[in-house]
Amino acid sequence: MPRRQILIAGGGIGGLAAAIASRQAGWEVRLAERASAFSEVGAGVQLGPNAVRCLDAWGLRAPLQAVACFPERLEIRSAIDAGELGRMRLGRTMAERYGAPYLTIHRADLHALLLAAVSDRADAPLLLDHRLTDFVQGDDAVAARLLRGDGSELALEADLLLGADGLHSRVREGLLGEGVAQPAGHLAYRAVVPQRALAQHLRSQVVTVWLGPQLHVVHYPLRGGELLNLVAIRHGQPPADLVHWDHGANAGELQDALARTCAPLQDMVQAVSDAGGQWRLWPLVERAPVAAATQMAQGLVALLGDAAHPMRPYLAQGAGMAIEDAAELGRDLGMQALEPALRLRRYALNRWQRVAAVQRRSRRNAGIFHATGAVRVARDAAMRLLGERLLDMPWLYGGGPVPVRH
Ligand SMILES: Cc1cc2nc3c(=O)[nH]c(=O)nc-3n(C[C@H](O)[C@H](O)[C@H](O)COP(=O)(O)OP(=O)(O)OC[C@H]3O[C@@H](n4cnc5c(N)ncnc54)[C@H](O)[C@@H]3O)c2cc1C
Repeated sequence: MPRRQILIAGGGIGGLAAAIASRQAGWEVRLAERASAFSEVGAGVQLGPNAVRCLDAWGLRAPLQAVACFPERLEIRSAIDAGELGRMRLGRTMAERYGAPYLTIHRADLHALLLAAVSDRADAPLLLDHRLTDFVQGDDAVAARLLRGDGSELALEADLLLGADGLHSRVREGLLGEGVAQPAGHLAYRAVVPQRALAQHLRSQVVTVWLGPQLHVVHYPLRGGELLNLVAIRHGQPPADLVHWDHGANAGELQDALARTCAPLQDMVQAVSDAGGQWRLWPLVERAPVAAATQMAQGLVALLGDAAHPMRPYLAQGAGMAIEDAAELGRDLGMQALEPALRLRRYALNRWQRVAAVQRRSRRNAGIFHATGAVRVARDAAMRLLGERLLDMPWLYGGGPVPVRH
């Protein structure tokens, strides 16, 4: 019997993870990416043990070990007076508690190792420069139209279609007929610099989160500790053109936003600019949390990652949830006794409540991170008192699907 075939639209972290999981479940994979080369933005990403367990199960521990960082702790500091508010042990403590480490990694490195795992066999054609424009569901197949960079079209049929095509997903639009994702009213500035370009006292090998009124800053090491990744998020209105989201940002604008924060934080941001770090600007967008399984799959079409559940980055779990989605998808695709549509239904049923909980918590964290006045005082007191008991999240790091190899 010919193998079942899944067409994946989108070759980001989510699409590549889905390709690995689908292949390991015995499916033939075709992946269409609209860009003419596979790439990721030049920034870092944190992955909790919930996501790292999935990567481990796909056999990716060794390549991760070679390029990721495994910070010893997470520190929360006041952006006003630099005082420590709380800390959580990561390193060995997390690995022992949850069966996999907490890590930080350059997106390009994560993307490259996922791509290598997909490209190592000839039976997973990767179609670059192919943008999915349309699809129609039949009784037992999906017909998709792809537009190539040269203007020509390609018609493809597959048993299933997966939309892993990100925030402005065409598959989502075709499946759910919704409008565009909405601005969250927050702007993210990101930069990556070599640690050696910073003064000794500014270099850091831990995850540090600075909490201030209507803003926060996160920094952590990348690439074995050679690089430092910074993300600063503040309240603010996005530029008009949301789809072309990666704008050259103004370092001066960020410095202005930090004017009332402590000297060590301002020094750090200034040092990054002085060291040649380019501050890139992302206006954050979001959608309401997933409200039903039918928002993640209908018939022979499913959504994954940001296409399904875009979220604010206040729990550092958007990519983690995409990886978890892929692990669950692989498990369900391998259920040979079920018709393909039922396998997708199972995927959606097993995922929607968890991703909705993460979306809600990410949104709530924005209020906590950026608190002012009495709420800030209460937050700081709770963090000083409870520390790790408040910061650790067993429901998040310990939960999620356990991927099964087929
Ligand atoms: C400031 C910031 C910090 C973050 N930090 C973290 C973190 O620390 N940890 C974490 O887990 N997450 C984090 N995230 C979230 C994370 O970046 C995303 O959730 C994740 O990258 C989503 O991956 P994806 O594959 O679903 O989508 P994308 O990365 O957007 O990939 C979608 C792909 O689909 C392609 N595509 C689009 N349309 C089409 C089409 N019609 N046909 C074919 N291809 C198409 C695109 O070119 C792209 O390659 C952060 C996000 C932000 C903004």
